[in-house]
Amino acid sequence: MAIYYKYSGDPKLSNSYLYGDHWKNDIGYYIVQGKSQYNHIFGGETWKLPICNNCHTSYHQLFNFDLRDPKLAFISDTLYNIPLIGCLNCSESWETFYYSINNNFVITELHTNDTQHWIQNEELQIPVPLPKIQINLIKMTENDIPTDENKYYDVLNIFGKNSICRLIGAPLYLQTPIDYECPKCKKKMMYIATVCSEKKSHFIDYGLNFDIGDAYYYYMFCDNCKIVKCEMQSL
Ligand SMILES: [Zn+2]
Ligand SMILES: [Zn+2]
Repeated sequence: MAIYYKYSGDPKLSNSYLYGDHWKNDIGYYIVQGKSQYNHIFGGETWKLPICNNCHTSYHQLFNFDLRDPKLAFISDTLYNIPLIGCLNCSESWETFYYSINNNFVITELHTNDTQHWIQNEELQIPVPLPKIQINLIKMTENDIPTDENKYYDVLNIFGKNSICRLIGAPLYLQTPIDYECPKCKKKMMYIATVCSEKKSHFIDYGLNFDIGDAYYYYMFCDNCKIVKCEMQSL
């Protein structure tokens, strides 16, 4: 039985999972470039990353978030860092995948469900690792929270221009709610972040845009099992 977050009812009859008053206190952070006293980074290779089962190159480290930052300390009782990863060069990250993390910066037990087996042309592949960029967390304002339909569409429009990652706070769903069930203990996972393509921004300045198409990656975490799960949704 899948667990859907803060939502009940038929998705065709209600948009309450996309926006609504129930999100009003869920203020999170946007990721922007900038120095921080914590080890928050975009790209890099802080973690020992798995090899993709489909394209046989290394996964990309998209982000590492430092859980010593008091803003994020609630995420885990025992871990000091949480990595968000994905393979940007093939279809393996288009289906839900999950992986285990630890305090040794090693990602283990990668589980994937790729059914399409598509691989990007070699000359268009995004290099591994992504350039390492220091990032900072900027607190959202109430205008960034999808408490009503107008704000929902406003936030969809600016996401990708102002930032490529929304961290904790209210999820910004493109479709139905994501499945928060932990694949191991079956309890509800914690929502961590949403990642999107950059639109006309210059988040990465190395000749390539950060591009995952018209899709969002949603990351969740189970502190009991130390598992990060990622689900993709498309526009
Ligand atoms: Zn791959
Ligand atoms: Zn679990």
